[in-house]
Amino acid sequence: MRALRNEFGLQFFRALQLKAICEVMDGRDVFVLFPTGSGKSLTFQLPAVVQDGLTVVVSPLRSLIVDQHRALRKRQIDVEYLLGDTPESQKQAVRQRCRNGNAPKLLYLTPEMLQMSDSMVSVLKQVHSQNKLRRFVIDEAHLITDWGRTFRDSYVHLSQIRVMYPGVPISALTATANAEVQEDIISRLNLNIREQLKLSFNRQNLDYEVRLKKKDPVGDMAAYILENHPRDTGIVYCTSRDRCEEVAKMLREKYNLSARHYHAQVADGDKNRVQELWSSGEVQIIVATIAFGMGIDKAEVRFVIHFSIPGSLKAYYQETGRAGRDGKLAHCILYYSQAEYFGRMDRIIKDKDIKTDIERQWQLDDLKHVMRYCTNEVRCRRQQVLAYFGEEFDPAHCRQLCNNCRNQDGILSEDHTDTAQKAVRLFENLQRSGARLTRNQLALALKGSRVKDMVKKGVTNDPLYGSCSNLQQNVLERVVEEMCHAGMLASEVVQNGSGYSNTYLSVSHQARPALCLASYARASPVARPRCKRAAERTEETQYRISRQKPRRP
Ligand code: ADP
Repeated sequence: MRALRNEFGLQFFRALQLKAICEVMDGRDVFVLFPTGSGKSLTFQLPAVVQDGLTVVVSPLRSLIVDQHRALRKRQIDVEYLLGDTPESQKQAVRQRCRNGNAPKLLYLTPEMLQMSDSMVSVLKQVHSQNKLRRFVIDEAHLITDWGRTFRDSYVHLSQIRVMYPGVPISALTATANAEVQEDIISRLNLNIREQLKLSFNRQNLDYEVRLKKKDPVGDMAAYILENHPRDTGIVYCTSRDRCEEVAKMLREKYNLSARHYHAQVADGDKNRVQELWSSGEVQIIVATIAFGMGIDKAEVRFVIHFSIPGSLKAYYQETGRAGRDGKLAHCILYYSQAEYFGRMDRIIKDKDIKTDIERQWQLDDLKHVMRYCTNEVRCRRQQVLAYFGEEFDPAHCRQLCNNCRNQDGILSEDHTDTAQKAVRLFENLQRSGARLTRNQLALALKGSRVKDMVKKGVTNDPLYGSCSNLQQNVLERVVEEMCHAGMLASEVVQNGSGYSNTYLSVSHQARPALCLASYARASPVARPRCKRAAERTEETQYRISRQKPRRP
């Protein structure tokens, strides 16, 4: 507490900060998953200041390193940094300090410096041999896994830290990691943690809504803005540059709204000007591609509209996250259409810039996930978004701040126990043969689609292959999704020989209850009540069927 006040000028610890700090001070590995802005840095900076020894912080961006260095220096904390282009004399001075047993409290490095600079490695080894290497901190730790889709080669080598510096504890910090990424980070860094320290990613003040694009979507959007946010600031995201310009023009000319476009092709000077006009409130709406967003800290953005579907739920979470930073109610609307979805898929398939099949498949899977989110009109939207980050969320806490929780009309409940049982049995058969399936492949296998992969894996020979061919593909996908939500199927990250990871499903122990239903009659009288209770919990899978109103003759 004294250090918090005296060294950092802060009064109280924020949620989980103290817990993380205690773990760090006890010399344990730590995994911190907090949303951006929640104060991850303090979890290693404060212990570094109060304890002896050197804390090495690996960070991917020079701007992040320079910012943190400046802030710490201001507080007179002994900190250094080394970047690729740091002058040699400065590098040498820092190395000398470390060699002489006078290392700074904190040393910030890029992963490249840690990996490629032999002299740096030899210095760190020396500090280690003197028992003064207190800890490694891996900031933006998701970059170590290709699951984050944005991995950096030099980050992958960080998995060597454990081997090169045995016994030195590691902190891994990130704000963007779904369940698979979390697992992958922990395994690649070989972390030995007591528990993951996670803060909720729930943005309570955001209202999530999905709309199917109808005849005049720009008109629909303009009507929404004029009615609900006539003077509020907002962002509209479009995928293509042309579309940005076109939509901004229509909002201006047809609906008299103050809107400007923003995309990568806009000249730098104009970009800054548009952003300033928007930030100062002179322009109400910015119609942008994803090029817009980094570093925006406007607190009172009241709406974020995705006028085209985003590429992944992660991107969606980040982009909608720019709304309501002031904590007041803000709206996030996503417009989608099947045609647009297929168009996007087609572009990914034909995209020559995508280097490998596996990357192409990732992008397709991500897009498919977004589409599942759009078309799932039953499950709480907030729950779906948070499930992506591996966070369980009780829809009762949504407080009707999503259009699914608000609208429960016309939902039909269908019992898909039979389908679930078939899926579990199919898995059990496959587990014996060692074949693995992804989410999409499971639905395809139950449907009986003869795709190449399926034949190769020998799935087509299984007696349960195609056992649900009477059901529509989208129904099967919903069942598989519900089984994942219910915890019957778990995700498992598997690294292949070339270091890439893929997520496969596996049957979790909770799937047994589903099978219990079938074996209930055969169960012993003692086991029966347990079987039945367990079975009842997993019995029903809900999905919504859109029903056409009967036409009048
Ligand atoms: P993150 O790395 O999680 O994005 P930072 O560590 O950069 O977040 O912290 C974000 C801001 O929160 C910083 O301005 C920091 O000074 C502030 N902050 C961190 N911890 C506290 C605290 N306990 N009390 C008040 N402000 C804090």
